[in-house]
Amino acid sequence: MGAGRRQVVVVGSYNHDHVWTTDVLPVPGATRLATYAGGPGGKGFNQAVAAARAGAPTVFVAALGADAAAANARVLATAEGIDLRDEVIADVPSGAAGIFVDADGRNVIAIAPGANACLSLGFVAAQQVPLAGAAVVLAQLESPPDVVFAALAAARDGGALTLLNPAPANAPTRRELIDVADVLTPNETEFAALLGRHAQRAVSPDDLPRLRGPTLHGLCRELAPRSTVVVTLGAAGCFVSHPEARRRGDAEACYAVDADKVATVDTTGAGDAFSGALAARLAADPAAPFAAAVRFAGRFAALSTTRRGAALAMPRADEVRGSS
Ligand code: ADP
Repeated sequence: MGAGRRQVVVVGSYNHDHVWTTDVLPVPGATRLATYAGGPGGKGFNQAVAAARAGAPTVFVAALGADAAAANARVLATAEGIDLRDEVIADVPSGAAGIFVDADGRNVIAIAPGANACLSLGFVAAQQVPLAGAAVVLAQLESPPDVVFAALAAARDGGALTLLNPAPANAPTRRELIDVADVLTPNETEFAALLGRHAQRAVSPDDLPRLRGPTLHGLCRELAPRSTVVVTLGAAGCFVSHPEARRRGDAEACYAVDADKVATVDTTGAGDAFSGALAARLAADPAAPFAAAVRFAGRFAALSTTRRGAALAMPRADEVRGSS
């Protein structure tokens, strides 16, 4: 990898989040009073902001409508220092999410993918230069799977490290999407869904934090024999499993990393904070132990849970304990 490679390229979704906060979530037929806040979201944009605030020069490849939400996305990307490469989809609105949150922080969410579903193979192919020249390319599954695959394949062919955050859990995944990822970052629900689909293993997400150790390592190896798998476990931290041949500077093939204890107020976007910060750290120093990047990502994600919101709740690298 050339000395000049420091960039993170995020390929993914932009949504305008409409967030209604109520005392109790409305049930069918009910009306409740709420407070409203609108703001940027989408796993792609959240992860791009996390990568940028974690210190990486960041490119964000996304599809937007020809609407006010798209104009807002451009302003926000500029404010974050993100190089936005947007494919404008005429006649289709930008992605939008309706989110209800109750007093206990529980939420229900509905997403209209809009333009995100129209990100095209041709547009991604035209991003060959940033994709192949990046240190790390990071994608999620709120964009068409064949486009995500093409982006990661172009990145890998160019020598970039490929990261896939396989979220949301119900998104379709083909085997080749797992194989093209050097690093996978599922949460427990996504990991259980992938195991069911690709390793014919029925595992309850609730059991995963208790498994850890060799059992969880074995499941990771079954799912993705050639990839490093980082299963994120919320307040229980995360579990890292490397293929034997690619330990990325770590002495152990598998290990658990505890989460920081913080005053959590909103866990929305914690997984996005983790993946974006991990990408930034791996891009900044590919030779450093993988475990150091994971510890940084965990601390960064923990801090993100101490603020409300998604993209704009991301901390900055200098707020993370022991980051320098
Ligand atoms: P997702 O948001 O995708 O469900 P997780 O909930 O697993 O992802 O969170 C990702 C990471 O964020 C965790 O591995 C952990 O490091 C950190 N994290 C999440 N929730 C908390 C919490 N309540 N306290 C501290 N760290 C947290």
